[in-house]
Amino acid sequence: MRGLTARIVICATLALAFMLPVGVSIWMSYRVALAEQRLRTGILASQLLHRAHTLSDQIAGARRALLRRADRDPCSAGNIGLMRSLAIGASYLQDVGYVEGGKLRCSSYGNLGDGYELGPADYQSSRGAWIHKAVKLPFSESRKFFVITEGDIGYSSLVMPELILDISEASRDAAIALVAVSTRQVIMQRDGIDLAGMPPLIREHGDVTWRHDGAMGAVKFSATHDYAAVVVSSVSAFNAAWRKAAIWLVPFGTLLGATLVMLAMLRIRQRNGLLWQLDRALRAHELSLAYMPIVELRSGKWVGAEALMRWQRDGEWIPPDRFIPLAERHRRIRKLTGRMLDLLVADAQALPPEVAAALYLSINLSAEDLADAAIAQRVHAAREACGVDGILVEATEGVLLQADRVVHNIDRLRELGMRVAIDDFGTGYSSLSYLGSLDVDCIKIDKSFVSAIGTQSVRGHVVSHIIDMARDVGLAVIAEGVETQAQAEYLAARGVQYAQGWLFGKAMPMREFVARLQADRAYHACQM
Ligand code: C2E
Ligand code: CA
Ligand code: CA
Repeated sequence: MRGLTARIVICATLALAFMLPVGVSIWMSYRVALAEQRLRTGILASQLLHRAHTLSDQIAGARRALLRRADRDPCSAGNIGLMRSLAIGASYLQDVGYVEGGKLRCSSYGNLGDGYELGPADYQSSRGAWIHKAVKLPFSESRKFFVITEGDIGYSSLVMPELILDISEASRDAAIALVAVSTRQVIMQRDGIDLAGMPPLIREHGDVTWRHDGAMGAVKFSATHDYAAVVVSSVSAFNAAWRKAAIWLVPFGTLLGATLVMLAMLRIRQRNGLLWQLDRALRAHELSLAYMPIVELRSGKWVGAEALMRWQRDGEWIPPDRFIPLAERHRRIRKLTGRMLDLLVADAQALPPEVAAALYLSINLSAEDLADAAIAQRVHAAREACGVDGILVEATEGVLLQADRVVHNIDRLRELGMRVAIDDFGTGYSSLSYLGSLDVDCIKIDKSFVSAIGTQSVRGHVVSHIIDMARDVGLAVIAEGVETQAQAEYLAARGVQYAQGWLFGKAMPMREFVARLQADRAYHACQM
């Protein structure tokens, strides 16, 4: 159940690690599109307002020129000539004319005789001009003109709304209008503009942008006239801008999400890795020691125990052959040895003083430990704290043959009263010749040699040589991995003093070790 929950949490975390940057990139593209549309509609509205102002100026200019002229007959040849020059000179004025009785009497095109009926005006502007929004004229049937007639003097300006409203190619998909602020009357527009979505035009000046039904709108108010330019871009234009932004932003988000997922997976793998868990075990005190009895072969009595590291992780025992080499490779061994010594001191408190004084406790040190200048002092301090007199330090032969520093520390350990053993003897350099040159106290014959006893293998024959040579140079011998009575008898017959192995007892917690010692009272002071 715990595993399932952990898996669900991991999956959810990975999904989140991916979705978050992707989601953020989509949201950012949306914001970019929004900003872009806001800018675009704002620019279009400004451009429209600018045109409207130019048009207003041109109308005012024409009015002034016609007033100055003040011919009696507004449709005099001179006036018509003036109208023509005004229409040609002003970019937004198609025509300038004179209206009387609702009829266009004359214009820059000439005298229209009876005049042309304009029909009722659409509305009157705030400054009193009459506005006809769409007037067809006989001399330009295909067009509809926007006609502004001065209420007081009757002169009109004729404008083609497209010229004002077709701002640029970029404005094609936008609805555009010029709106009277005071009346909310649409003055001229291209494409039906939905003023319902527009915020109330409450302000006389300033700009407004808003969003309605997915479309973006902008209003620019004229500071000098009673109108405002309104531009509403379409939903499809907004979506296109969003897509455009997403095309370069979302791949970034996806890449970032994928990178995060990879990093998270790496981290998870690392956390699940043995080394990471070993670090946690060192912090969380998940390590313990088990004690394997060492017996005197002749009497069968216990003379000591080898302290062996144990690691229980989530109810599962991790063999030392897995985590000790790992700790050695990744520079954790000194820490582990420190923990081993602490555990040894704590466990030894359970030993009755007379037992502690008689027995040997054997510990394993790695090459890295033996290269530590402080090791002899550390082990010595542990021995003092233990109250155990006999401490045997086990190191493999390869380690002992290493650098001077190691040899120096071995000497130091022995000076301080500890005994030193060559562990797994025979498996390393396999040369018996150097045996006498090493200043140690004991060898531990490797289990592989002991299991070979009684077989015809080479190792079986080598055992007796090892034993003989050790005796010759005055080293004590402990045989490891003794599993059968036959092995024990053979070793005893050959003069091996000590042994350990499943025949005598497996590694056990200190509590059990003490209980068994006290039950049998079968311990013996070690003479090593
Ligand atoms: P080692 O020092 O050679 O320890 C003897 C190993 O042989 C132990 O395995 C022990 O349980 C096993 N053994 C002893 N008698 C028998 C037997 O009769 N039959 C069988 N099949 N096995 C037997 P363990 O406890 O798994 O330890 C493995 C190795 O881990 C040790 O080999 C030692 O090199 C290392 N180790 C254990 N504790 C420590 C420690 O505290 N520090 C260091 N540096 N190394 C340690
Ligand atoms: Ca050992
Ligand atoms: Ca060994």
